[in-house]
Amino acid sequence: MASDPKLQRTVDVFELARTRGDVAGELPIRSADRLAPMLARTEGVLHYRAEFALDDRGRPAARLVWSATLAAKCDRCGAPVELDIGADARFYFVRTEEELNALPIEPEEVEEPLLGSRSFDLDALVEDEAILSLPLAPRHARCGDDAELTDGTREMSGRAHPFAALARLKSGKR
Ligand SMILES: [Zn+2]
Repeated sequence: MASDPKLQRTVDVFELARTRGDVAGELPIRSADRLAPMLARTEGVLHYRAEFALDDRGRPAARLVWSATLAAKCDRCGAPVELDIGADARFYFVRTEEELNALPIEPEEVEEPLLGSRSFDLDALVEDEAILSLPLAPRHARCGDDAELTDGTREMSGRAHPFAALARLKSGKR
């Protein structure tokens, strides 16, 4: 589609895992079609970095660290609530839908199985993760007081504090 201004970037997860490749990216929130309508503002980007490898069970796998500052809509007053969200997540890839559906549910396992591809849409995965990390009912601690967020305070959300992990990834240290 030549008229589509959004370039879809896809990666070969199997080749990246084999060669231990890294992919870093930025997804503009305004081009995240499913996430953007859930937010009060669409400025900003989702930063991410994916490190691919074969895991200790020989499976193609990835570690995905992502973060973003998003403005959700307050459930009480409707004004923007700024949220720092992000995560450090682990995945492994299977080759077919049948394989994915046949996997036993392993609640103990940290890694989440995904249907891999030679043209895998990493942006869509990051967008999915961001959508899943949004609180169901984001709210200001006290509406009105900090609705403008002029004092620089932000409400924390998300599954983890991934920023230290992201900083480590960026600096190349483990
Ligand atoms: Zn509010």
